[in-house]
Amino acid sequence: MRRLGAEVTEVRAPAELEGLHGLVIPGGESTTIGKGIDAAGLEPGLRAHHDAGRPILGTCAGLIVCDAEHLGFLDATARRNAFGRQLQSFEADLEIAGIGDEPLRAVFIRAPWVETCGDGVEVLASYEGHAVAVREGSVLASAFHPELTDDPRFHAIFMAMITSAQERAESEQEARR
Ligand code: GLN
Repeated sequence: MRRLGAEVTEVRAPAELEGLHGLVIPGGESTTIGKGIDAAGLEPGLRAHHDAGRPILGTCAGLIVCDAEHLGFLDATARRNAFGRQLQSFEADLEIAGIGDEPLRAVFIRAPWVETCGDGVEVLASYEGHAVAVREGSVLASAFHPELTDDPRFHAIFMAMITSAQERAESEQEARR
């Protein structure tokens, strides 16, 4: 995100969510992240961020945390550790809608896939018939770890979402004046 010009800060307490233009919910372990959100009292602030239309990027466990069975930011359900034993971790070249023809090298680590999704969810990439990158409104999510390769194109989709959300917020403010 820094390479793309963003100023980056960590969020561990509710007050640190204030004033953010975008939020990344990273990979890790979704149950642990969920417990951390509860323990830190982050859920109301996360909901306020989402309700305000500020973009959220969920990667891997972050995708699970955003799904309909967790925070509900995506009208989709994730299946945890979906690729099973042999394919616990692997890399694949993915075609991703909106980043050009050159495939993106994607690193999957005990990754989920998107098992079901509603009509409003756009599938940006699939692997072996399973959705692994989706977007719905201000939420972008990937089953893989876009931060583990040098290719900034997936993050660039997110940066573009942030820019347009900011422009929208500014013109709404302008209209209210
Ligand atoms: N397997 C983890 C989970 O279910 C996700 C792994 C990851 O984020 N790389 O939460």
